[in-house]
Amino acid sequence: MTKNLTSPSKYDTARLQQLDRDHYFHPFTDHKALGEEGSRVITKAEGVYLEDSEGHRILDGMAGLWCVNVGYGRKELAEVAYQQMLELPYYNSFFKTAHPPAIELAKKLADLAPAHMNNVFFTGSGSESNDTVLRLTRHYWATKGQPDKNIIISRENAYHGSTVAGASLGGMKPMHKQGGLPIEGICHIQQPYWFGEGQDMSPEAFGIKAAQALDAKIQELGEDRVAAFIAEPFQGAGGVIIPPASYWPEIKKILAKYDILLVVDEVICGFGRTGEWFGSNYFDLQPDLMPIAKGLSSGYLPIGGVMISDRVMDVVNKGGDFNHGYTYSGHPAAAAVALANLEILENENIIQTVKEETGPYLQTRWAELGEHPLVGEARGVGMVGALELVKDKGTNARFDDKATAGALCRDFCFQNGLVMRATGDTMIISPPLVITRSEIDELIDKARLALDLTFEALHSGG
Ligand code: PMP
Repeated sequence: MTKNLTSPSKYDTARLQQLDRDHYFHPFTDHKALGEEGSRVITKAEGVYLEDSEGHRILDGMAGLWCVNVGYGRKELAEVAYQQMLELPYYNSFFKTAHPPAIELAKKLADLAPAHMNNVFFTGSGSESNDTVLRLTRHYWATKGQPDKNIIISRENAYHGSTVAGASLGGMKPMHKQGGLPIEGICHIQQPYWFGEGQDMSPEAFGIKAAQALDAKIQELGEDRVAAFIAEPFQGAGGVIIPPASYWPEIKKILAKYDILLVVDEVICGFGRTGEWFGSNYFDLQPDLMPIAKGLSSGYLPIGGVMISDRVMDVVNKGGDFNHGYTYSGHPAAAAVALANLEILENENIIQTVKEETGPYLQTRWAELGEHPLVGEARGVGMVGALELVKDKGTNARFDDKATAGALCRDFCFQNGLVMRATGDTMIISPPLVITRSEIDELIDKARLALDLTFEALHSGG
């Protein structure tokens, strides 16, 4: 990896790794295995680049965790947080109180969201947003006098967060295995993952089939039991699974037949990832609820929310107290930073640039990686991409030992100064939206090198 020689490291990496090993139990991590290896300690970042405690410079192909949309090092966001903390570091909105940052952010979000969504409930994260979704959909139907209309249909391999409700709404089996999930009243239908599950059909036909699983499930349960259908516009953590073009139109047709809420989880897609403000704009969806987080503040401070349609709000307004909320709902500093972040996205035309220039450029260059002998499919949209690693390019046969190739490739990426994530044998990127053409070229070169090294290692038996 290239050393950033302009900034000799001031960190004692061995000490930090030892303390980390001894005391820090990481999210989604095998603590024991990490302890043996030692963490990479990230110490600073600028633009699209990270720096670790040993002075290595790494291109962040994942924008942190799909969130640093405006890139690192935005002094204006730090300044806004500083000023707000001096002025009013904290107050809540529980007891008939409010404060300017949360009010202004709510107004801004109402302006940016689809026209029929004019209210927002603030949370601290995407998971809390989906906990809110669960309670709000059930509260909505109960207020309408249908308390038994309380089942939420989701999809296998969906990701909706890590809290009890979030992980239950999600369709990740390894998460369900821990802690007795999913909780009652949530079920999962087939995902629209053509490469993984539908190659015996055309993408078009498979998209229709996957959508029809929703109709079948509603019929099975009875419309009067189903509260909502929840879905990500494209599945992010599941492997950047972009549904075939036939999928969303068919889902819309099905939903039009029933009185069921549509929840579109915009935690990843929101704030420009597809080249539109929301994935709902990109796929032409009219959600009733839209959980948001991540790009809302570009990750500078933790904040999320649920955007609420007028239809839902009209009913909720008849329901009295909604007995739900978080200490940090609409946190003043987080709200002020989020508002400033949205202004950066607007003033610098960042989303327009993704749509018209850098997004198409990334997709053209990314598609070139599809020619690599290790890659069965290269797909993407806007500023995300996925590569399916395969054992046999001709048949798209996967490796028997799933995730070895992916983990190898991810490690080669890291060693060569690129963060690319592996979900099983699917490699994923989601870089900051401000990435330039030359930085995209660097990302592609480094990804190709990692693919070459992975191919070599797998085929030399190494
Ligand atoms: N929904 C989606 C679609 C997500 O991708 C994520 C996080 N990756 C979440 C919800 C949960 O967000 P958080 O980690 O902020 O709780």
